[in-house]
Amino acid sequence: MQQDIVIFAPHQDDEILGAYEIIRQQPEHTYVVFLTNGDYEGAEVAKTRWHESRKALTHLGVPEDHMIALGYADTGMPREVSFLWRLWHEGDQTLVPSHVGAHTYHPDGGKEYHLAHWGAHAAYTRLAVLADVRGVLEDIRPGTIYVTNEDDVHGDHAAAPLFVCAAIDQMADYTPTIYRYHVHGGDDERWPNRTGDVFEKPLNLDESQWESRVSVPVEDQKDFLETLESFQSQWRDAEYMTAFIKKEQIFYREKK
Ligand SMILES: [Zn+2]
Repeated sequence: MQQDIVIFAPHQDDEILGAYEIIRQQPEHTYVVFLTNGDYEGAEVAKTRWHESRKALTHLGVPEDHMIALGYADTGMPREVSFLWRLWHEGDQTLVPSHVGAHTYHPDGGKEYHLAHWGAHAAYTRLAVLADVRGVLEDIRPGTIYVTNEDDVHGDHAAAPLFVCAAIDQMADYTPTIYRYHVHGGDDERWPNRTGDVFEKPLNLDESQWESRVSVPVEDQKDFLETLESFQSQWRDAEYMTAFIKKEQIFYREKK
């Protein structure tokens, strides 16, 4: 039996920047779980971003119901202001409201995971994120999981694997293979390297993790570009976006 894949994306575009080739290879077996609504610039932009991801994933052949919105907030990039990083370091039940709201919502007006699964929105707490991540993993039981890396500069990206690993630790008899991917590798002006068709080491990454990286060849860079062009709202930094299009995508296997 073909095992399912779950890609955890903190924001709408991380799934393509980090794992385009993985999704392209097995779209029907891939689920993309969006932890936040990417609503740093408001709920209208969040809706736009949701549709951009849907366009990209539809282009690759991912079924629409394989897009899962957890519906949490995006309050900015530095750790001390970012939503998931702050939440991770709060008490289980401490409410962390955003400028948009204080509970989960679906960016396109549908039902976010918590509402669909438990019949109510979730207040923005650490415990709720953990319950939702665990709920999704229990529903799908993927053989392989892709998630952002703890060394990523964006606080949401750094905290996402902490939630995912904590949820897995709560589950009995479940040992998926976990790969990390980078989006903000230390300095967005210098990484990804703007020239060259393979990646250089992310500035923040330690040498041993880099040495044990897994390089997955990108089959069709033209299609990668076409897919990435779905994200028009994020395209203001075209140099940064297109720097991800190389001959390879890089992953780091989690040592458990
Ligand atoms: Zn992101």
